Amino acid sequence: MKITAAVATAPETDLDIRELELDEPRPDEATVRLVASGVCHTDAIVRDQWYPTPLPAVLGHEGSGIVEAVGSAVSDLKVGDKVVLGPASCGVCEQCITGHPQYCVDFYAYNFGGTRPDGSVAFTQDGQAISSNFFGQSSFASYTNVRARNAVKVADDAPLELLGPLGCGIMTGSGAVLNVLKPGPGESIAIFGTGAVGLAGMLAAIAAGATTIIMVDIVPSRLEFAKELGATHVVNSREDDAVERIREITGGRGVSYALDTTGVPPVFSQMTKSLALRGHGALVGAAKLGTEAPFDIGTLLVSGITVSMVVEGDAVPREFIPKLISLYERGLFPFDKLVKTYGFSDINTAFADSESGETIKPVLLY
Ligand SMILES: [Zn+2]
Ligand SMILES: [Zn+2]
Repeated sequence: MKITAAVATAPETDLDIRELELDEPRPDEATVRLVASGVCHTDAIVRDQWYPTPLPAVLGHEGSGIVEAVGSAVSDLKVGDKVVLGPASCGVCEQCITGHPQYCVDFYAYNFGGTRPDGSVAFTQDGQAISSNFFGQSSFASYTNVRARNAVKVADDAPLELLGPLGCGIMTGSGAVLNVLKPGPGESIAIFGTGAVGLAGMLAAIAAGATTIIMVDIVPSRLEFAKELGATHVVNSREDDAVERIREITGGRGVSYALDTTGVPPVFSQMTKSLALRGHGALVGAAKLGTEAPFDIGTLLVSGITVSMVVEGDAVPREFIPKLISLYERGLFPFDKLVKTYGFSDINTAFADSESGETIKPVLLY
């Protein structure tokens, strides 16, 4: 069928809205009519070829929509179901079967390969292959084919125009906090970076009952916004030494938990140094392949700290996304305050506003 999609053609170049051909869903796939899609930092860095997904490509990986058709082997979705799309995974490897699909042994092939694992593409233009199946979805399109496995059915009255980012950015921050760090009531956390991932982590820490919540960034307006949303302390690391300030705020002990959403090596180092004895820090920010960060093993050995590398919040989307929706509905996870909507044709404005920090989480409406 003919569909409309935004095609990434070259690094640092605007996406091009084109008419493409979408193939038939495979037996294990569903055709989804997209209602909305978030724009995530990873879309921009893949457009810019930090990761070698071949261009031209249809990117987008925070899609939400309605099932239009299902393949012959799909038994758990039906036409008309509302779905939020999550990252793809094989479903049969050791990590997938033990509840950690974000570490699927074939994660790269399923999410960044630009094709289905069998080498086929969902999108073509005049017979020429266009990279598709980005994060198993390529949601910058009016329709796409996804494996049923990475579609999460939501309630018929769920606000689809809002829910796409639960499949990546919001899940990444909140999952790192709720699934990996697990701060308890009355505990402390420092979060480096006040983008969508950091603020989602902050909202999750508040929902978990943490009571000392320190947000670190270099943009004053963002720090102000974090405070409005519930941060107990903010640190401008351009003006102050973040580690010193965190030690001051916590009476010298450091924070029990910390999250680095930036992937910037000096920030990662600050995170490790801001932890209390036996504290637990997590890195979720993507860096270019080959990036190394200094880590003072001499000093840190005796601190007993743990540092985790966390992909997509280590979440099982079909289990975790409904939890986030339930928290949202109870008013305990107001991630809608991070979202600004754009028409699909304004996708390049949405990218620019995300990059400049003008918008925390752009969501395109189709
Ligand atoms: Zn797997
Ligand atoms: Zn993402």
